Amino acid sequence: MSAPNIETIVSLAKRRGFVFPASEIYGGLGSSWDYGSLGVELANNIKKSWWRWLVHERDDIEGLDSSIIQNRQVWKYSGHETTFSDPLVDCRACKGRFRLDKLQDVSCPKEQSANAGSGKECDLTEAREFNLMFRTTVGAVSAEDDESALAYLRPETAQGLFINFANVLNTSRRKLPFGIAQIGKAFRNEVTPGNFIFRTREFEQMEMEYFCRPEDAPHIHQEFIDAFQEWFYSLGISAENLKLYEQTKEELAHYAERTVDILYRFFPERDDEEKQFDELMGIANRKDFDLKAHSKKPEDREGKRINTDSNEDLSYFDEATKQRFYPYVIEPAVGVNRTLLAVLMDAYTEKTNDKNETRVILKLKPELAPIKVAVLPLAKNKPEIVSMAKDLKRQLLPAMRTVYDDTGGIGKLYARQDEIGTPFCVTVDHESLEDNAVTVRNRDTWEQERINVSELKNYLRGRLEK
Ligand code: ATP
Repeated sequence: MSAPNIETIVSLAKRRGFVFPASEIYGGLGSSWDYGSLGVELANNIKKSWWRWLVHERDDIEGLDSSIIQNRQVWKYSGHETTFSDPLVDCRACKGRFRLDKLQDVSCPKEQSANAGSGKECDLTEAREFNLMFRTTVGAVSAEDDESALAYLRPETAQGLFINFANVLNTSRRKLPFGIAQIGKAFRNEVTPGNFIFRTREFEQMEMEYFCRPEDAPHIHQEFIDAFQEWFYSLGISAENLKLYEQTKEELAHYAERTVDILYRFFPERDDEEKQFDELMGIANRKDFDLKAHSKKPEDREGKRINTDSNEDLSYFDEATKQRFYPYVIEPAVGVNRTLLAVLMDAYTEKTNDKNETRVILKLKPELAPIKVAVLPLAKNKPEIVSMAKDLKRQLLPAMRTVYDDTGGIGKLYARQDEIGTPFCVTVDHESLEDNAVTVRNRDTWEQERINVSELKNYLRGRLEK
């Protein structure tokens, strides 16, 4: 089973400390969210998994961490200044503002009105383009409207990878094909954010640009489409909740040859199965657009340089063929927050206990679980039991994230750990003081095993790696 809707996850996330509404004490700030103690661990574990799988386990990808604020020229030549916009419509009746291509996802703010998408109550204006980049100014003396100080918060991490192509190529002594990867915040002044952490104005991306010969691009593209599905499976996301979507010619960005989105069933409650799915990530073949756009040499049809501000030529010299060309780029771009939402939705399970009560179990993969082991004392007023439990916590911690918890009766503590996805609970009881053994309880099966303390670490390690 997985979560019946996003609302179920919103309430679990708030109840247990995964995600809170941002600025809540001041009434919030449209679709901004803060990650609590468990949310930040889960997000970190997702990022670690991606980084290890791409940057560490493969031998052809370098890591990078570029600035959020770059020279404005980056966004001029990437095309974002002129084309990174959404069609915006206003409603003359309810005064709402909507993204024309997402009308079906929003409700008219006027209570008595029907859904904006129905078009019945809303009286929409002609669409106009609204640039999604957040503007800021750089430097202490700059005035708000000083064009020369204008800068943007990056709307994607990708451009930081392109502009460092030559730096990485020269310092790593790479040959094609190879990739550069980074994880970081991106900002988009979305017209209609919403659906919890699905669409926010500040979010985090895990992006990789894989540079290759033009003729290799189609099959490398396909390999990454296949590989990323496998990666999502490895995070515990089930195949039935994932779907591929091939962008149509009309939907493709002007520079893209082919783009395939991996969709997740974020909206299982919708009647129309098609509408249950929405984008989790995109994998694009961007051809040689980006490296050319940031290079000083390429010329347009009239022989004019397309980039008169760049100091660099980002072409590649192939020693084997003695040819110079601009590599093609395959770009798999994943959202951390959407992945976290998909992981939570897929891990959500309900189980009935022997008292006929419904319990929530978050069946997270051990690799992603914020806490791997909770050590619980059966009697917190017995100093020997407490001390043995705290000792065990310290012994296990270097190998696995372990917490000590004595904030309730054992039933409550088990329920809490099930709900936050902790794979194992270790209980220290009166007998433990005699036989130096503890009870290990499995989150998913609720089975309990008695394990000697001397074998505990190895036992847990073996189970967590499965
Ligand atoms: P959408 O069509 O949903 O607006 P997009 O196609 O513009 O997304 P990309 O530019 O391809 O998104 O960004 C890559 C990934 O970054 C997306 O697949 C998504 O996971 C994530 N992402 C993009 N915009 C947002 C956002 N506003 N909030 C959260 N995640 C986002």
